[in-house]
Amino acid sequence: MIKKAGAILLGCVCLVLSTLAQDRIQSRSYPTTDFRYPLDLPPSTAGSFGELRAMHFHSGLDFKTNQRTGYPVHAALYGYVSRLRVQLGGFGNAVYLTHPNGYTTVYAHLDHLSPELAATVRKYQQDHQSFEVDFKLQPFEFPVTKGQVIAWSGNTGASGGPHLHFEIRDSTTEETINPQLFGLSIPDRVPPSISGITIYQLNGHPFSEHTPRQYLGVAGANGNYHLSNPQTLSLSGDIGFGISAIDQNSTSVNRNGIYSLELKVDDRTVYTFSVERFAFDKTHAINAYIDYPQFVLSRRWIQKCFILPGSQITLYPQSENRGIISFKDSLLHTVQYVVKDVAGNTSTLNLKVQASIPKDRPVNTVTGTLFKYNQRNEYSNGPVKVTIPPGNLYDDLDFTYAVLPQMPGAYSATHRIHSRLTPIHENFDLWIKPDANIGALANKAVIVNALAGSVGGIYQDGYVKAKPAAFGDFYIKVDTIPPVITPLNIRDGSNLAGVSSISFKAHDNLSGIKSYRATIDGQWILLQQDYRTRILKYIFDNTIQPGRHTLEFVVTDQKDNVSRYTAEFNR
Ligand SMILES: [Zn+2]
Repeated sequence: MIKKAGAILLGCVCLVLSTLAQDRIQSRSYPTTDFRYPLDLPPSTAGSFGELRAMHFHSGLDFKTNQRTGYPVHAALYGYVSRLRVQLGGFGNAVYLTHPNGYTTVYAHLDHLSPELAATVRKYQQDHQSFEVDFKLQPFEFPVTKGQVIAWSGNTGASGGPHLHFEIRDSTTEETINPQLFGLSIPDRVPPSISGITIYQLNGHPFSEHTPRQYLGVAGANGNYHLSNPQTLSLSGDIGFGISAIDQNSTSVNRNGIYSLELKVDDRTVYTFSVERFAFDKTHAINAYIDYPQFVLSRRWIQKCFILPGSQITLYPQSENRGIISFKDSLLHTVQYVVKDVAGNTSTLNLKVQASIPKDRPVNTVTGTLFKYNQRNEYSNGPVKVTIPPGNLYDDLDFTYAVLPQMPGAYSATHRIHSRLTPIHENFDLWIKPDANIGALANKAVIVNALAGSVGGIYQDGYVKAKPAAFGDFYIKVDTIPPVITPLNIRDGSNLAGVSSISFKAHDNLSGIKSYRATIDGQWILLQQDYRTRILKYIFDNTIQPGRHTLEFVVTDQKDNVSRYTAEFNR
């Protein structure tokens, strides 16, 4: 269960160190001398493991690189290159190394790879005629020594600035683990800071945007926090607590995430949270951890200290009654928050609670259809069907449906499927019946989320079917308009002598781009893609002989509308 790590202190250094090396909430131990830092720079982080991000817990450490690209990236341990990946968004260029100690390290947003690895990626792209690739390698193909340069740091993929994203994963389960538990520490004497707390009156009802909340301001510094308005809180019945807290370290001004959170009532631990390790297919459960309605409405991050029953992420090593505290006597209680960073720096906040005996519970208040979080749920009326597979709801739901007026250009009414303030873990099945006048355009139909655009769709059995990842307002549109291609430095008859590359942009109005294909004289060419600028670029290589050539660029959207651009050029 809970293991106390870092408590081995000897002799006279005890008095000094014991204030630094606090007990850490950790389920198991990890090798702390195997791995080296992947960069030669003094270790400094722009992002911590488990930090709160939209739709996910951050899966690694973001090492700072002086706002520059091009630092050599070293193998953290000997082993072999087990996977290479190029993604337009996400990790950009990424290298995975598997090590004999049972762990896999991941290096992402790389600028470029070592020449042998780059050639391997290039060949795979050529063979599969695709810029985005993701493939595994055998242990004998690219063995690496500890410290070997495998790549150079960059800013590729969905990266907000130059840095190295670094992960340590369990090679068997692929769970990602906090790299700072492997001895890769970052200088840190700064305790977490607490900016507010929230109190939720749960009373046995599912958590939702309707749960009564009370926000309380917090003051303090250097590990000691208190209510801005010191008071004894009067509470009764089932209560959940929440907190807003961040952490910083000694090496940067970046606001990172905390390591652990503990809630104690009268000195008894009733809830713990710690970012030790988690599985990628559970990371969306961040929306069960935070106060999701508040996040959607105000972008405010509140970390709930109670667990929703449908959350399956492994970040809660110890809790009683899912962290929900039942105040049902008339005594004075103390509630303590203990917030730590991975270095053990600790911040605390104490509350005084005057409990009172709850009055009778309110009767069942369900007004829509009750959906149970641990079952398959269905709703249907004439024009709409909704199915939510098990594992997608974090709590029971008072499911609601409403029909709204038809949008201009839509082929159905707008259907309000519950509320965008309730998160879904992966997706649900949505079927909408189109207007009869859709006719032959049915195969061009998609379902549109009024706030987020197309969620895709296929026409089948008289319905358009899709798998949206969020509740909201949905209607049907058709996409008959092909993508628009904008050549950036070529036109028909161009002389491209001395030009190193050809660039394009392409854009689709509704369903989104499914594929790009470019050829010169009928031969496939690789288009490098940039996530931020959306520019597609062919870089000339020595396969293009001097002379006259024909370039063709074909872009297809998700509904198979095709645009074609052709130009002759000399080079
Ligand atoms: Zn990262």
